[in-house]
Amino acid sequence: MSDELTNSQLGAMAYDPAPESASIARIKPAYGLFINGEFSDPSSHEAFVTLNPATEEPLASVAQASTADVDRAVYAARRAYDTVWSKTTGAERSKYLFRIARIIQERSRELAVVETLDNGKPIRESRDIDIPLAAAHFFYYAGWADKLDHAGFGPDPKPLGVAGQIIPWNFPLLMAAWKLAPALAAGNTCVLKPAETTPLSALILAEILQQAELPEGVVNIITGDGSTGAALVDHPGVDKIAFTGSTEVGRLIQQRVATSHKHLTLELGGKGANIVFEDAPIDEMIEGIIDGIFFNQGHVCCAGSRLLVQESVADDVLRRLIRRVDQLRVGDPLDKNTDVGAINSAAQLARIKELTAYGEEEGATRYTSTCSLPDKGYWFAPTVFADVSQSHRIAREEIFGPVLSVLTFRTPEEAVAKANNTNYGLACGVWSEKGSRTLWVAERLRAGVVWANTYNRFDPTSPFGGVRESGFGREGGRHGLEAYLNV
Ligand code: ADP
Repeated sequence: MSDELTNSQLGAMAYDPAPESASIARIKPAYGLFINGEFSDPSSHEAFVTLNPATEEPLASVAQASTADVDRAVYAARRAYDTVWSKTTGAERSKYLFRIARIIQERSRELAVVETLDNGKPIRESRDIDIPLAAAHFFYYAGWADKLDHAGFGPDPKPLGVAGQIIPWNFPLLMAAWKLAPALAAGNTCVLKPAETTPLSALILAEILQQAELPEGVVNIITGDGSTGAALVDHPGVDKIAFTGSTEVGRLIQQRVATSHKHLTLELGGKGANIVFEDAPIDEMIEGIIDGIFFNQGHVCCAGSRLLVQESVADDVLRRLIRRVDQLRVGDPLDKNTDVGAINSAAQLARIKELTAYGEEEGATRYTSTCSLPDKGYWFAPTVFADVSQSHRIAREEIFGPVLSVLTFRTPEEAVAKANNTNYGLACGVWSEKGSRTLWVAERLRAGVVWANTYNRFDPTSPFGGVRESGFGREGGRHGLEAYLNV
């Protein structure tokens, strides 16, 4: 029946604003570097400003770590490893991880607001997904810390030492949890570098580590841009680099560590295919497609950014999809009714605009939501491209924004061939009522993760990671421990 509602009828049912209060965030005017258990000024005294992408207003001044600061952080991590953490039992380490998880839960409302202010993502997502999942990762790996002998990596698996961890801006606290929790459970010490546009939740995590009385130097959090990341990658005192970010930077990092002793895991870009067969349950599937690409403004490496739909149902699916896209509420990320928030930065917005312009130039048919966009801030209306062919740039390149490319197929063989026609290999979705068909397709997809009749589901017990240009190594689950053990 909702199918029959016109947009003007939906307008009449518009929701009243329901904003969360920004004051819960208690953001400080300036943050230093978190090294050896305390905040300190960077040696260069350089700083940069982190903005609220929904308003372009400054949120805080954040330290820019120099090579000398990276050195200080790695030294602190090494000393903590040698003198404390490598001598701390698994049961003791797990106590700290449980403590961190509980404090994240206690401060979850504050963290959700900070994440939404700094990143632009809807509060509903930071409140219901990012922050609870971050706590869940610490809880999950707390359970492993005293059971490493039974994890299937030999009788007495050893940590690697000091881990340098570089994370992106799309899920700031969650990515910090994905990196820190398994590393600490396995007995490593860490130097974490958050992304330059979203450093705030990691800095609040630093306060949480102080609250949890984690021994000094076990985790060091240094803010800065790509040059800080590069200095961490190049530091000879680091035993392991874990990176999540663009394929371009991942490639560079792989080259730089190639001749060193460093272990490496990379979680890079993607161009996920959401494959829809004609027998798929239509309403669930439309919601799954929407969630697959518009969740977190499409700033998701495993986003279902290519929709492969069976030709027999393509017109119907496209019609329903466009109607649903028009109903998405775009705007104030702090509003509890918002579905799609702000684009994280001016640079990312420019990239999305550039690639979507190519989509039109190359002949795809563009449908853009008729939603109105705020005047200030970085915004992009949810967009669907139909009549996309495999050679189009919008079918090949990661847009990392709220843009879906729709292609069609006739047979399961063709669906698999098209889904695999990419240099990436992070995630895919399959929608069908037939289990045998789903399994047949899933077996043939070259992707680290395959979801069936759902999309973008995350759980700390489930390993996540890519193949080919989407990287290597797994995060989450028992497999996630392997990245931090000498096995
Ligand atoms: P995006 O293009 O999505 O911003 P990046 O790969 O550029 O993703 O950034 C992901 C993380 O990598 C960020 O923390 C960023 O500061 C860091 N970074 C960028 N360039 C480098 C580099 N050359 N070496 C190490 N880290 C880097």
